Amino acid sequence: MKKNGKKVLHQDILVKGIVQGVGFRPFIYKLARIYSIKGKVLNSTQGVIIEAEGNEKNIRQFLESLKKHPPVLAEIHTIDVRQGSPVGYKSFRILHSTHENLKEALIPPDVGTCEACKDDIFNPSDRHYHYPFTNCTNCGPRFTIIKDIPYDRKNTSMNMFKMCKKCSEEYHNPYDRRFHAQPVACPVCGPHVSLLDRYGNEVANEKQWLKKSWNILEEGKILAIKGIGGFHIACDPGNSKTLKILRERKGRQAKPFAVMCRDLDTVKKYCHVSKKEEELLISPAAPIVILTRKKNYSLPYELAPDINTMGVMLPYSPLHYLLLSGPFDMLVMTSGNYRDLPLVIENREALQELGGIADYFLVHNREIVNRCDDSLV
Ligand SMILES: [Zn+2]
Ligand SMILES: [Zn+2]
Repeated sequence: MKKNGKKVLHQDILVKGIVQGVGFRPFIYKLARIYSIKGKVLNSTQGVIIEAEGNEKNIRQFLESLKKHPPVLAEIHTIDVRQGSPVGYKSFRILHSTHENLKEALIPPDVGTCEACKDDIFNPSDRHYHYPFTNCTNCGPRFTIIKDIPYDRKNTSMNMFKMCKKCSEEYHNPYDRRFHAQPVACPVCGPHVSLLDRYGNEVANEKQWLKKSWNILEEGKILAIKGIGGFHIACDPGNSKTLKILRERKGRQAKPFAVMCRDLDTVKKYCHVSKKEEELLISPAAPIVILTRKKNYSLPYELAPDINTMGVMLPYSPLHYLLLSGPFDMLVMTSGNYRDLPLVIENREALQELGGIADYFLVHNREIVNRCDDSLV
């Protein structure tokens, strides 16, 4: 087949590795436009499948860019390229995914909120203002919402939320950073939070939850928070009375409580942070890092009795950033398990299991499919 006098080649490309849920298909789509490649791209259970047609030079450059500049979160393990016979594609398209039985595709991990989404949630004129489920191709939940692979919205716990017109426009616009972001959502169409007392009565809706949560924490109450991968138990780290109550209720006499700090500067206010520790703190997994606290540390003894270290993590979801944007620059964020039971993930389960520990529950109506406790380093 010839086009403008140049021979058109057809290549079947299979890319394996962490290539789903990391903006890979939109990336391929943009590359195809740059190099005038026609064909298609789709997720399969084996990896990402690309059919590319174009002249030899364009195909070569397309493949080089693919290898050299993959999306930040992608990790390419292998690229298998085979020559095929040209179909005569007129455009380049992202197709719905195929279902084979071969489940080799890797499920990508959740990714902490990116800078652009952070800007959105703190921008009063953005439609995602104060919305705790804001995400885009570069950030947001993956592993914790996936029910089945390939990673497509219909195989996630986002399938019950029908995109509104604006979200759908962004999802379908190749020049938008939410192009093909599977968990894309906004206050109009996405999941919502609700603040409950320990009997399950709503005390604040999605409009009042943030202020009310701060009030509750300032009053020295204990708040269970349904996060991305499970429940956290939060309270004011500066209130020794509350810390004592939490220890009693959790049956945890001396083990230090992990805390979440607003940002790196706040961490440095309380702890010594080496370069290596700093890298760990800001890494995508947002682990709990054990740090040596400073001598002039002004937090109550009850937070971490008899030791000079402290488990610290940084926010990794919009909900965390919002909670830490008010009167607290640090919160106790201990995992919501009662002694050695697994992390609680469902609302009803939480009220039963954690009702003896927490006074209030900040929950939401998106199902957590796969539990994911904070990692400790
Ligand atoms: Zn983002
Ligand atoms: Zn929407």
